[in-house]
Amino acid sequence: MKHLRKGLPLSAKSQIKSLFPFIDGDGTLRVGGRLQNSELAFNLKHPVILPKSHRYTHLLISMLHQQNLHAGPTLLIATLNQFYWVVGCQSVVRSVVNSCVRCARWKAKTASQLMGSLPAVRTTSGRAFENVGVDYAGPVIIKASLLRSIKTVKSYIAVFVCLATKAVHLEAATDLSANTFIAALKRFCARRGLPNQLWSDNGTNFVGADRQLKELLASATFNSEVNQHLNNLGIQWNFITPSAPHMGGIWEGAVKSMKKHLRVVLGTAVLNFEELSTLLTQIEACLNSRPLCALSSSVDSCEALTPGHFIIGQPLNLVPEPGVSDVPTNRLDRYRQLRKMTEDFWERFRTEYIATLQPRTKWQKIGDNLRIGDLVLVKNDNTPPAHWELARVVATHPDRSGIVRNVSLQRGETIYHRPIHKLVVLPTD
Ligand SMILES: [Zn+2]
Repeated sequence: MKHLRKGLPLSAKSQIKSLFPFIDGDGTLRVGGRLQNSELAFNLKHPVILPKSHRYTHLLISMLHQQNLHAGPTLLIATLNQFYWVVGCQSVVRSVVNSCVRCARWKAKTASQLMGSLPAVRTTSGRAFENVGVDYAGPVIIKASLLRSIKTVKSYIAVFVCLATKAVHLEAATDLSANTFIAALKRFCARRGLPNQLWSDNGTNFVGADRQLKELLASATFNSEVNQHLNNLGIQWNFITPSAPHMGGIWEGAVKSMKKHLRVVLGTAVLNFEELSTLLTQIEACLNSRPLCALSSSVDSCEALTPGHFIIGQPLNLVPEPGVSDVPTNRLDRYRQLRKMTEDFWERFRTEYIATLQPRTKWQKIGDNLRIGDLVLVKNDNTPPAHWELARVVATHPDRSGIVRNVSLQRGETIYHRPIHKLVVLPTD
């Protein structure tokens, strides 16, 4: 900043030299970049530059992590990059996520998640939700009424996923009848437009679904009632065959991410229907703000393409900028402009996103050894993670090659041995 104030060139070693930084009227260091002439808002064109090791940066990322319902690094970086340019942000974002106790609690289950696979109906569609996959998730236990009652009921979540853009739409369903499903479908169609084709799993290859759910989706009455409704609307309903389970990968991925957000936020709380619907729409916004393309580290692409771009023209977690011009625009012009924007998004989708749909290598790493004093959660397959016991490592038992596979734990007065694959290490400062 000293150099910039004096109008001197930056030193060759400077990490931010390639960003062409400048100091704005308020004395804030911003990215110069090469987007001066674009029509983006000032904040987007010239994000604020932040150092990665400063406390402020840490707090900011931490706040965004919580605001976005414990978002993972990719969503977090995309959200952050809307207004900030953190030098070397990958490492600091990862460290914030890794140090979140609430996330660590669930990590044992979420670590092995796979990304959705390439959809068959992909780039040909002209808008989001033209070809939709639908799946049920649940059950979620909710309160039966808004009153302070203790009566609880099982409730389910209908997950609609756009097969091309991965945009997600969530609807709560209080029971497993065909009528409830049709009602959820009606709400979906009314707000997202009629789909051309609806894809679903016919229930036989559900793995995690509960018995009731499987029975419903395979039952003849359910299928005929729903099918009739869809026929009336001219929507084609397809089942994915058990021989092509990868077809369901894209909505299975959406169901998994939805469940992850739901679990982390919900914990052990029991919501009522209204609270559940609110939470679902928030989760939906988070999922629709997830970048589709791997974020490039180029200065000039300040925004990642998200499903939200195909729905409202921007990520759903972006705070709207006040309009820059006071000139009233013609509605038709506005429509053409929007149309043009959408076409641009599809173009970007075709060129950038499709190119990234290559096989991804799995994240693999030899972990650090557990140490004495580490705080761990003891995995218990019979209870949900929120009820897992906390314990502290009091002794480690390394094998001949020095790798710790067994430890002694203390909880209260008792000391016991556990293999490390039964433990979830909690982040400590
Ligand atoms: Zn978290």
